[in-house]
Amino acid sequence: NYQEIKKRLNEEPQLSANAVTVLRRRYLKKDEEGNVIESPMEMFQRVAINIAQAELLYNKDCDISKTAESFYNEMVSLRFLPNSPTLMNAGKELQQLSACFVLPVNDSLEEIFESVKHTALIHKSGGGTGFSFSRLRPKDDVVKTTKGVSSGPVSFMSVFDSATETIKQGGTRRGANMGILRVDHPDIMDFIYAKRDKSRLTNFNLSVGLTEEFMKAVDENREYDLINPKNNKVLKKLNAREVFNEMVTLAWEGGDPGIIFLDRINRDNPTPQVGEIESTNPCGEQPLLPYESCNLGSINVSRFVDNGNIMWEELQNTVKTATHFLDNVIDMNKYPIKQIEDMTKRNRKIGLGIMGWADMLAKLDIPYNSEEALKLAEDLMKFIRDKGREASSEIAKIRGNFPNFEGSIYPGLGFEYMRNATITTIAPTGTISIIGGSSSGVEPYFAIAFYRNVMDNDKLVEVCPTFREISKKEGFFSSELFEYIAEKGTVKESTVVPEKYKKIFVTAHEISPKWHVRMQSAFQKFTDNAVSKTVNFANEATPDDVREVYELAYKEGCKGITIYRDGSRTGQVLNVGTSK
Ligand code: UDP
Repeated sequence: NYQEIKKRLNEEPQLSANAVTVLRRRYLKKDEEGNVIESPMEMFQRVAINIAQAELLYNKDCDISKTAESFYNEMVSLRFLPNSPTLMNAGKELQQLSACFVLPVNDSLEEIFESVKHTALIHKSGGGTGFSFSRLRPKDDVVKTTKGVSSGPVSFMSVFDSATETIKQGGTRRGANMGILRVDHPDIMDFIYAKRDKSRLTNFNLSVGLTEEFMKAVDENREYDLINPKNNKVLKKLNAREVFNEMVTLAWEGGDPGIIFLDRINRDNPTPQVGEIESTNPCGEQPLLPYESCNLGSINVSRFVDNGNIMWEELQNTVKTATHFLDNVIDMNKYPIKQIEDMTKRNRKIGLGIMGWADMLAKLDIPYNSEEALKLAEDLMKFIRDKGREASSEIAKIRGNFPNFEGSIYPGLGFEYMRNATITTIAPTGTISIIGGSSSGVEPYFAIAFYRNVMDNDKLVEVCPTFREISKKEGFFSSELFEYIAEKGTVKESTVVPEKYKKIFVTAHEISPKWHVRMQSAFQKFTDNAVSKTVNFANEATPDDVREVYELAYKEGCKGITIYRDGSRTGQVLNVGTSK
């Protein structure tokens, strides 16, 4: 009985003013006139009770109140939050709960426009879509039925872009796309230059799909083959190093294209018998098969530090409940189309990750750019992966393995039970970190204090909560200090902040790109899917600096890399924290 269970879920969430603003804008229930008719507490009740109802599919007589309570407690304490679509849509008519989708784009007009339609349906419900355009015949290739010529992948991408633009206003949040083209597609140079004109493809992130073969050719400074996907014929050859350098230069100029390492992603494909992975979701953290979707959730690790110690046992409990929660989401989800429902339910991928990493490090007195932080990143992520796998196996013993388990990588790894083909993903947590009051994903702090514009040109100083807390405890708290930091953006030159804390409250720009990559790689080692991370460069950085970091990402085992050079781009597809 909904009302009775609801009564028992009565702990109040402790939310910041920003969190409440974000929730009121898009997450809380509204009546037909647009008035908010739900409190944040009621939102967590709605989500907990809705997701707990999946229990009834496996035991129709069970009492779901205990499960609802455990889900509620994790969310209301801000220890764990599911991705935005789950918070927005669970228990409402829409009931679309996933953030990530990948759709196929096949080489016929009918199929291309079918995908455009599916994209529209997904964006309407708050999901993001990724596509590989590599199967489309190149520009100027013959179209048999009309005797005309094809306009090529890049021009078809504009159709998807316009569709996204059109639905923007009516949807739950701004739709985002990832476009991928293999480096051996004949139109690769058009793709690399596609966003040079900043008014084009504004709803797309682009990534070039690199192969081992190509990387070898770069290393040996030789030519490689560009192949027409329609007939597998070699259409032309290009010098690999020159193509690589162009990619680097364009990324240096404006952030796009990023790169992904396709062979590496497929080496980790948990269900190779089902098909090849060609694309990721918009922010790159979730490689998926065509027609597959995935729901994400993140543990706020800064909540697991007590007096300089990590509370491993509590963390283990949260991992267990979060895994259970995300598995339930798969059953409670209302999928936009049948093919996606089928594919998703056969692999049952979930993406459990973390946010609040920079806060956790600060609470432990560990600078982000230190060997100690890298070591802890590995230990922490290994712990979450292992405990997540244990939890998934336990669920499988009761509910069964994911249907594609036989033929997957798991029997070979010695697993007898596994409920989910993947368990871990590190998401950007652009909005849920605002709700949770933590630093986002595994990123360092962007600023320790900054000015936020409010009405009538008033400026308010906003301070990183962990810095505020520590400065109070250590006796260097003052509003003058916060004003000073907001002006400068960093604490580096302050005469008030003790040296020790200058090292600990280091910001993204003060951390060298190499440390960014090493941190990404430390988390990647124990993450089934991928890690969302931006590598920040100073405005003065050169294309050579970017090239070195691309090579390092390859060497360090990353699955892809996204860079951003300060001041190189004004409008981003996803401007973390401010886009929604
Ligand atoms: N996403 C989207 N539109 C947005 C923000 C996010 O489609 O405006 C999708 C995209 O696939 C992204 C994923 O949601 O990779 C996760 O993003 P994030 O962790 O920032 O989402 P949150 O749950 O914090 O809103």
